[in-house]
Amino acid sequence: MVHDISNVATISLLNVPHVIHIGYQLMDHIASDLTENVNNVSNYVIITDTRLAPLYLNKLFESIQAHLKPNQRLLTRILPCGEQTKCRNAKASIEDFLLSEKCTRDTCLIALGGGVIGDLVGFVAATFMRGVPFVQIPTTLLAMVDSSIGGKTAIDTAHGKNLIGSFWQPRRIYMNLSVLETLPKREVSNGMAEIIKTFAISSESDFVKLENGKTQIESALLGFSNRHELYAGKAMLMNIVHTCAAFKADIVTRDEKENDIRGLLNFGHSYGHAYEARLSPEWLHGECISLGLIHEAELSHYLGHCSLAVITRLEQCLQLYELPVKFDENSKKKLELERVMDIMKVDKKNKGAQKRIVLLKDIGSTLENKPTNVADAAIKHVLQKY
Ligand code: NAD
Ligand code: MG
Repeated sequence: MVHDISNVATISLLNVPHVIHIGYQLMDHIASDLTENVNNVSNYVIITDTRLAPLYLNKLFESIQAHLKPNQRLLTRILPCGEQTKCRNAKASIEDFLLSEKCTRDTCLIALGGGVIGDLVGFVAATFMRGVPFVQIPTTLLAMVDSSIGGKTAIDTAHGKNLIGSFWQPRRIYMNLSVLETLPKREVSNGMAEIIKTFAISSESDFVKLENGKTQIESALLGFSNRHELYAGKAMLMNIVHTCAAFKADIVTRDEKENDIRGLLNFGHSYGHAYEARLSPEWLHGECISLGLIHEAELSHYLGHCSLAVITRLEQCLQLYELPVKFDENSKKKLELERVMDIMKVDKKNKGAQKRIVLLKDIGSTLENKPTNVADAAIKHVLQKY
């Protein structure tokens, strides 16, 4: 439990201590920790997007600049916001910028943004000069609890999302919870889907915190209510992000390249990814995962592994955080059962034609410590209900 919200909590990742830092008002902490621990660097380059730059770039720039040694430079690069930036052109534009600035292998890239900036900058770092250090400063809830941890970096192509990329671990991940105050509500819900997923597979008592803590979490994110409530809400938000991040860090440490247990983090994503392929960009990732979580719980119930009450609790919790639990008529038309089944064939978890899906036993526990083999007929049966 994290009690003191003025403290910075740290988590180790892949047996390296203090990789993840979590707290409020962290800009100065980031600057001092970064320049002290990711040193032997001649250039630091902050890469961010057009929405975040006016909000946080100056403060970060000034904080880091105050800590630079005389022979070090600090550069910045601002890219358009949105998923379309996770592309080959944007990667090439960053590389050309670094080359034109004569950046060498002792360059540290700093990704200030959500999952789009994190995935893109991570992939640039993985291949620039055959690999340079990078750090993540995730600014969305989704990036904090999910995309910034685990070293998966990628760009999208016309053939699909995340198809070109690599595993490349950040040297530090700084989760400055204060930046969540400017995050749009829909993006907060988007991140909540991954938090609900994490607690649904890992801990009933943490899931209960979500069921009971909506008002507190909201007050921390929106910054209103009285001081006492705000303090309690902030402590709770920090505790939730910390627990989620620690859970993912532990799984990644045990199975970095997703051979078995890391597959558990895909709960809700077997159906969810297929829905996303059909409904994006109108539907956000977390919104598709919301339906995916319910339908995979439904699948588990159909196969006799969990009770109806599990589905109901999951559904109510998702609804509480303003996530969709049903498709509207228009989306239903767009989905098309056969197309969804077809997309599910190319799921990375599958072994050949055998589909593998994470099945729930109860809130807080899964049937196996990895995805389970499921027959196509059962998958189709659940899909036909919606
Ligand atoms: P995003 O990076 O597009 O951010 C969403 C929007 O919010 C953007 O417009 C951004 O400018 C804005 N924003 C970000 N932080 C803000 C803040 N604090 N205040 C105000 N506005 C802010 O979206 P995302 O949901 O963070 O990331 C989605 C991406 O993450 C997808 O490309 C997905 O594939 C990837 N992802 C990667 C992994 C992984 O393991 N690498 C895991 C999950 C998702
Ligand atoms: Mg996800």
